[in-house]
Amino acid sequence: MGIIVAIDGPAGAGKSSVAKAVARQTGMTFVDTGAIYRALAFSARQNDVDFDDEKGLAQLTENLPIRFQNTENEQKLFLGDDEVTHAIRAPEVSEWASKVSQYPLVRAGLLNLQRRLGEGPDGAVAEGRDIGTVVFPHAEVKIFLTADPQARAKRRVAQLAEKGIQITVEEILNEMKVRDERDSQRATAPLVKADDAVEIDSTQVTMDQVISQIIQLVHNCKNASVEAVHG
Ligand code: C5P
Repeated sequence: MGIIVAIDGPAGAGKSSVAKAVARQTGMTFVDTGAIYRALAFSARQNDVDFDDEKGLAQLTENLPIRFQNTENEQKLFLGDDEVTHAIRAPEVSEWASKVSQYPLVRAGLLNLQRRLGEGPDGAVAEGRDIGTVVFPHAEVKIFLTADPQARAKRRVAQLAEKGIQITVEEILNEMKVRDERDSQRATAPLVKADDAVEIDSTQVTMDQVISQIIQLVHNCKNASVEAVHG
């Protein structure tokens, strides 16, 4: 198994863009765990499963027909034969995902899928809320990526605008506040910084600087393991 880079943090901190870039530049696999919770919530809506029906949601995780496909420009996501890559990015799906992800049975049901996606000789860059604490507690590199709320909201508005979704900074600020509170306060696998994670605040630095810093940590880690083998 290759090395694992775990990137956790609140909504809009830049985890996805950073994880994607680090994966591309190091040849590792990108694992977007938020997309999995989003796909589950999307599927629950399609199958009329209530967001407070923990057992029904857990059943859905058992046979969730989810499939990632890497193309040159993006990672596509399919539910059965339907491509849902863009549909799961709608702001209402963020809210749904945060609701369904509170339940222990749901989280347990999606754990193996996340771990399987990170297996493989090339290693993986996985991002989410509980990667360094629960999904890959032994990850070689752990990052907790933050930024102040205003900066996160502005970035998210720009990202959504690129996808043709118009929303104000105020609306996103409110949406993120509710979601971050729910994600941080839930009893199971809450959003917290792992004790051994490196905290990076991206408010004042560019994403390229964050990406370089993480790639440096990956190189340090690879060099340390080579030295350990060769003495
Ligand atoms: O990262 P993203 O915004 O796509 O995540 C959507 C939601 O999925 C989060 O607000 C959170 O509730 C949930 N999530 C989670 N654990 C993860 C990844 C995402 O609970 N590892």
